[in-house]
Amino acid sequence: NKFIAIKSHINGAPIEFDFEVKTETISLSAKSKEVIVKNLYVSIDPYQLHRMKSCSSSQTTIYLAAPVQPGQSIDTYGVGRVVASGRPDFAKDDLVVGLLAWGEYTVVEEGRLLNKLDPMGLPLPYHVGPLGFSGLTAYAGFFEICKPKKGENVFVSAASGSVGSLVGQYAKLFGCHVVGCAGSQKKVDLLKEKLGFDDAFNYKDETDLNSALKRYFPNGIDIYFDNVGGEMLEAAVANMNKFGRVALCGVISEYTGGGKRPALEMLDVVYKRITIQGFLAADHTKNYGDFISTITDHLRTGKMQALCDISHGLESIPSAFVGLFRGDNIGKKIVQIAHE
Ligand code: NDP
Repeated sequence: NKFIAIKSHINGAPIEFDFEVKTETISLSAKSKEVIVKNLYVSIDPYQLHRMKSCSSSQTTIYLAAPVQPGQSIDTYGVGRVVASGRPDFAKDDLVVGLLAWGEYTVVEEGRLLNKLDPMGLPLPYHVGPLGFSGLTAYAGFFEICKPKKGENVFVSAASGSVGSLVGQYAKLFGCHVVGCAGSQKKVDLLKEKLGFDDAFNYKDETDLNSALKRYFPNGIDIYFDNVGGEMLEAAVANMNKFGRVALCGVISEYTGGGKRPALEMLDVVYKRITIQGFLAADHTKNYGDFISTITDHLRTGKMQALCDISHGLESIPSAFVGLFRGDNIGKKIVQIAHE
């Protein structure tokens, strides 16, 4: 079994050289209570960087998932096919979704997340992206945390990314006015032309984010779905309307250590009665049924577009991961490890 590991803990921006392909011998016949899965599509997520930091520099790992150790397999959400099963609820050739590995195979022990997958006629990568955790994050974050009302002005950062692209589309379908920001003209065009955003801009072209937001939101922002933190959060809060809501989904501008911490005008937050709320998708699994039926319906009827950015081959995982922090990806970053 070939798998990807970090060579040592990563503090700062990751580079491809931080990773290596390791090989181990595994048995492809399952012991009792074990399921051996051939990994097909695996998720590449920004939060995994926290797990790769040395523990002393990463307090957040305690809230997320176990730290990743050098030389060890790295777990992730993914779709695979059962090769052998020592459990009565899984059989050879079943499609499954759950906690797999950045590797060719996963030996899934009892207690580790694994469910049978009914693709419902949708492509398998969709079950890693819009129907996976990113999808739940967008759905729960927008509807539960942002508490939208029709006609409100919504701003989304990292809007062409996995979570952001879905949030913007939910907001449009709900009847909001939606503006997104992203890091290239190509992404901006996609937001406006393919995903139906009312407007979009390249934040890298703006010297003053505060005045950029004033230009795009002459009537102020009611909802800010924040994927990036830093200066964008600062500028968005400065442009919020009374009783505005900020959903803090992630702060990717800080993950690599270089970003500026936001200097929020707290008196402004008080007087405008702004709600700023962090959230984790993992706390919203009660919404899972609603979420799956809503998104499958929207994808089937073409009301929403799924953006899956797929690289091929186990060896492409390091560059796929590193690329998240350079803005290489458009939509959900996924690596296909084996043919379906
Ligand atoms: P994306 O698909 O959005 O990929 C990351 C994108 O972030 C890049 O493409 C890039 O787009 C942007 N980016 C990278 N570096 C910076 C930077 N320094 N400043 C501003 N933007 C940057 O990733 P996801 O959709 O998977 O995740 C989006 C956010 O949501 C992350 O912060 C993530 O940690 C968080 N998250 C939170 C969850 C929760 O439960 N709360 C669950 C899942 C994700 P661009 O070209 O626009 O710069």
